[in-house]
Amino acid sequence: PETITIQELANRMTERGVDVIRLLMKQGAMHKITDVIDADTAQLIAEEMGHTVKRVAESDVEEGLFDTPDTDEALEARPAVVTIMGHVDHGKTSLLDAIRKTKVVTGEAGGITQHIGAYQVTTPLGSQVTFIDTPGHAAFTAMRARGAKVTDIVVLVVAADDGVMPQTAEAIHHAKAAGVPLIVAINKVDKADANPDRVRAELLQYEIQVETLGGETLEVEVSAKTGHNLDKLLEAIALQAEVLDLKANPDRAAEGTVIEAKLDRGRGPVATVLVQRGTLRTGDIIVAGAEWGRVRALIADTGAQVKEAPPSMPVEVLGFNGTPEAGDRVAVVESEARAREVTEYRERQRRDRLAARGAASGAGRSLADM
Ligand code: GDP
Ligand code: MG
Repeated sequence: PETITIQELANRMTERGVDVIRLLMKQGAMHKITDVIDADTAQLIAEEMGHTVKRVAESDVEEGLFDTPDTDEALEARPAVVTIMGHVDHGKTSLLDAIRKTKVVTGEAGGITQHIGAYQVTTPLGSQVTFIDTPGHAAFTAMRARGAKVTDIVVLVVAADDGVMPQTAEAIHHAKAAGVPLIVAINKVDKADANPDRVRAELLQYEIQVETLGGETLEVEVSAKTGHNLDKLLEAIALQAEVLDLKANPDRAAEGTVIEAKLDRGRGPVATVLVQRGTLRTGDIIVAGAEWGRVRALIADTGAQVKEAPPSMPVEVLGFNGTPEAGDRVAVVESEARAREVTEYRERQRRDRLAARGAASGAGRSLADM
């Protein structure tokens, strides 16, 4: 049910909390300022105090922000978004770094000048792939929990000298739960004690049958250390992406997800955003979680400023008024007023939730809080 704290109700009416409490007392209910009351009571009080009440349902405020349908004709091919998962020390970070370096070698403009949490490379088939640089199941799960589906393909790294380990199994579980196809990267094949066949056999126990054993899961033997077969891995990703036939409408207000965000001393809040639909442009008004802003600058993984970011492109976004959180969904809205409406509503909801939790757990507050 809808609820509100007395403090919040008073704030919204710009009345004193103590006056709200007095009114409630007249009606026979003793309350303190941190108490939560239901929406009907709040409405009665507000009207009694001479305010007009507009009850806004969540569906109204959030209406149309995300996932409004696109026509088939509007859809265009977009790069695959890939996350690397696997057991600790099996080489996730090394592999991401090694793939990142192939981009510099292929001579794309600018090289990689900074770390931005996600980057794009060109595959041997000429297609683009976006790698999200937040290896770790926690990030993957957190984003899924918020309804953000960012990953199209999971690259499962298994060290050939160690085999399938608990976090390997966990990653398989996550990928299956999310309905995301896996590509197996059997890593560290440069090592003397590497045993790729053992990895293949162990994966069978998790219902993953790789191609060389007659199954459908693509697998590549790689070495993040020597760079062996990284091109083959990119090729496998390109092939898998082709099968998925990934598309998005670039000609619409942008939607995406915050991959990571920080408060930078010089630049203010900086969010790495993966654009998932539409095209994000400088000057756009965006909301993410309870924060909003006007896009002041977009910075690509090369460090170069860009004017716009199409679907599947990761960009650093400057211009947020506050720092959003990783996993927050991003949407472009038509006006500052709309951005304020959405973020203020979310902030209120957050406060109400916190207050409800506080009220549930907490004696110990007193009239002194007023
Ligand atoms: P993560 O925990 O999965 O991110 O693993 P790291 O990338 O940090 O790698 C763990 C260790 O394995 C590091 O000491 C790496 O240098 C090493 N390593 C990673 N990939 C390879 C590889 O292909 N060959 C060899 N010999 N060592 C590797
Ligand atoms: Mg790592």
